[in-house]
Amino acid sequence: MNEECPKCGAEFSVTVIGGGGICGACREPIDCPYCHETVREERTTGTFTETLIKAPDSLLSRHLGISDDDWEEMGAELNANTGNSGEMTYCYWFMIPEGTSEEILHKTGWKTGQMIDQIPVELVDSDGSY
Ligand SMILES: [Zn+2]
Repeated sequence: MNEECPKCGAEFSVTVIGGGGICGACREPIDCPYCHETVREERTTGTFTETLIKAPDSLLSRHLGISDDDWEEMGAELNANTGNSGEMTYCYWFMIPEGTSEEILHKTGWKTGQMIDQIPVELVDSDGSY
């Protein structure tokens, strides 16, 4: 069976190991393999093994209402807004690149050349991969 984590949006499958016993069933947690939160508990005589199928879209993508694939396809470049001091990042911004697909523009209501501002710092990976 496939599950979607309500906390992070990851998709994963759950298999039972050693289930089907007659007695000794107890509540075993089903944990999200991505964020490791307990999604729910179910009675089983075995134990659950969770396998990640699809990692959730990044916080940034979800904030923007697009998928990671959309973001990759756009090829937009995030810029840090460091205000006047230049020392602290207040937020991030980017421009919608020319050539962004109609599908993405339609989905988000953006226009090419539009500036998307006020992206919270915590949505952006600090390792600079975005
Ligand atoms: Zn999760």
